[in-house]
Amino acid sequence: MKPATANKAPVFDAAEIRADFPILQQQVNGQPLVYLDNAATTQKPQCVIDAIGNYYSRDNSNVHRGAHALADRATQAFEGARRTLADFINSPKAEQLVWTSGTTEGINLVAYSWGRSNLQAGDKVLVPTLEHHADIVPWQLVAAERNAQLVPIPILDSGDIDLDAFDQLLDERVRLVALNHVSNALGTVNPIETVIKRAHAAGALVLIDAAQAVAHWPVDVQALGCDFYVFSAHKVFGPTGIGALWGREEILDAMPPFLGGGEMIDRVSFDGTTFNTLPFKFEAGTPHIAGAIGFAAAINYLNGLDRAAAAEHEHALLQTTLQRAAEVPGLRRIGQPQQAAGIFSFVIDGIHAADLGMLLDQQGVAVRTGHHCAQPLMAHYGIEGTVRASYSIYNTMEDVESLFTAIDKAVQLLS
Ligand code: PLP
Repeated sequence: MKPATANKAPVFDAAEIRADFPILQQQVNGQPLVYLDNAATTQKPQCVIDAIGNYYSRDNSNVHRGAHALADRATQAFEGARRTLADFINSPKAEQLVWTSGTTEGINLVAYSWGRSNLQAGDKVLVPTLEHHADIVPWQLVAAERNAQLVPIPILDSGDIDLDAFDQLLDERVRLVALNHVSNALGTVNPIETVIKRAHAAGALVLIDAAQAVAHWPVDVQALGCDFYVFSAHKVFGPTGIGALWGREEILDAMPPFLGGGEMIDRVSFDGTTFNTLPFKFEAGTPHIAGAIGFAAAINYLNGLDRAAAAEHEHALLQTTLQRAAEVPGLRRIGQPQQAAGIFSFVIDGIHAADLGMLLDQQGVAVRTGHHCAQPLMAHYGIEGTVRASYSIYNTMEDVESLFTAIDKAVQLLS
């Protein structure tokens, strides 16, 4: 993909984008790889791989504390990456962007730091039934500790949040609503603007789990008005092991540290310790420097694309998938959300999802099978799991065709 220049409008061409991703140029099980597991993790363009390699081969050093050239370069790149990420989500300040190991750690940080110091006995945290376990279990753990309650927001069979039920649940004991922007299991695009407005009107804070959203649309945390926003680099073409937590400054400022150690302190003595300012207060120990640099390279890559055209392309892939799916006997899509991102979750009568996944893999088609870390959602539909095909910017209509050719073959073999 050619980078956007000042005078040239960015262009979008999935085939051209595909060429930027070396891993996609291989065969798996003797077939060209058709990678449809993007909701689990996205692949990395060459520029991200290079950014990480270059950092280790030229600049590797610890950050913030060294008095030498490499330490200076590493610190510049690391803090520059923070600014890139902050601009990407339109944060008023770079200091509001805290590095984490990913979405999971971001939610745990808020649960343990904010939750432990703010939840009182009888308080409630609301999460929709369709949440990923990462946005259920931390709240369960902290709620149990604080004698608070984690309350599920019901969903409709379409896979949409039941907004009337949500309204009924919003009372003065609700302190926080935590929800994903996009369900990793169904692709539901949740009405987060509505949820944020209603939750705020009831006096509750809102955390958005954006793990599945940031790769699909531009984000503006100020326009959204949420209180916390968490995401992972690896789902947006960056490396694993790094993510970001964004929070409203006054809330982050008032929160106690999550982990203790080096970097997060102001002064330490055995009489007591004072803490560093934002964001360092929440970044104990040596951070994932190469990860942050790779993350920023991924964001720069994304910024060079025509995002609207990319979103349209993913939408077209899903629409074609839905049309093709209607032709497969016994295939049932799970959920029919009003608005869906490029995720297609389905079952086929009489065929175990894991068996289907294995036969697709033999034909070079990589999908995910199972409960997708959303067991309460699976329980809602009375199923153990689904087969999930999830699209990204480098998938093509040929990939959709390959998926259905592989499904047809697998069904013949299994029936
Ligand atoms: N939330 C959602 C919606 C997800 O899809 C995922 C990963 O699949 C997570 C949270 C957890 O992300 P990570 O494993 O990168 O921490």
